[in-house]
Amino acid sequence: MPYKDPAVARAKARENRLRRRVEKTCVECGAAFYPGQHNKIQCLTCWNLNESTLTKFCTGCKQRKPLGDFASGESSCRACRKAYNRQHRQNNSDRLHAQKKAYYETHKEQYAAYGRYWNAAHVEQRRYNERKNRLAHLERERARGREKAARRAARDPDRSRVQSRRWRAEHPDRAHAIDARKRAVRSAAPIVDRVNRMVVADRDCWTCQICGEPIDPTLTYPDPGYLNIDHIVPLSRGGEHSYANCQATHAQCNAVKHDKIPVEETTHGG
Ligand SMILES: [Zn+2]
Ligand SMILES: [Zn+2]
Ligand SMILES: [Zn+2]
Repeated sequence: MPYKDPAVARAKARENRLRRRVEKTCVECGAAFYPGQHNKIQCLTCWNLNESTLTKFCTGCKQRKPLGDFASGESSCRACRKAYNRQHRQNNSDRLHAQKKAYYETHKEQYAAYGRYWNAAHVEQRRYNERKNRLAHLERERARGREKAARRAARDPDRSRVQSRRWRAEHPDRAHAIDARKRAVRSAAPIVDRVNRMVVADRDCWTCQICGEPIDPTLTYPDPGYLNIDHIVPLSRGGEHSYANCQATHAQCNAVKHDKIPVEETTHGG
């Protein structure tokens, strides 16, 4: 126990006695009362209601509310405190912002250190967050990428052309898929899937769906036998760009079929 000067204690007790002798008005019912040991804003009758009804009088909205609506030791309910805090932040936004900024300026090193620590300790979480943000702003990111690429191409068209050709050579499947999509967009065909050539070829067991002969996966562009993805109902005739409407064919078979739709072919073939 800390030492208490008896004289100071006596003075304090007298002060309290005097304060209790002053009549007050109950915030809840308006009755006059002398503040005792319970609390200093309500009469004893109202205060006793707290335990018998498991409710409490909120000084903010002036209503009795369940005890659960109050944080411990608070005389206004959570909703009122929330509203008050929001208002307070709004009224003092400039000052609070300046305060925060000043604190940041003087604790920059700590912030940076904590950031490094957090990133190192939460590799998975950070990746997840980055991915989530990217997905949430996918269109914006893509537009940015396109803008950047366009700027670069305008700056150095030759280099950009060479790079594009090299990328296409390295990623023939993705290049073909992009071309197919572009064609679909151009002919205003409905794009249902992002069609991957290899998936179609595997599904069709590397067999030409027009002539029935196998397709050699090692053949590439100028060879007439290389893999082509054919739209069963051509895009130009309202076919959709989807896995259901795509089939694997030889390049030459596809060229022969050209823009005929299957019905015409079967009638021709007998
Ligand atoms: Zn009262
Ligand atoms: Zn309230
Ligand atoms: Zn064929």
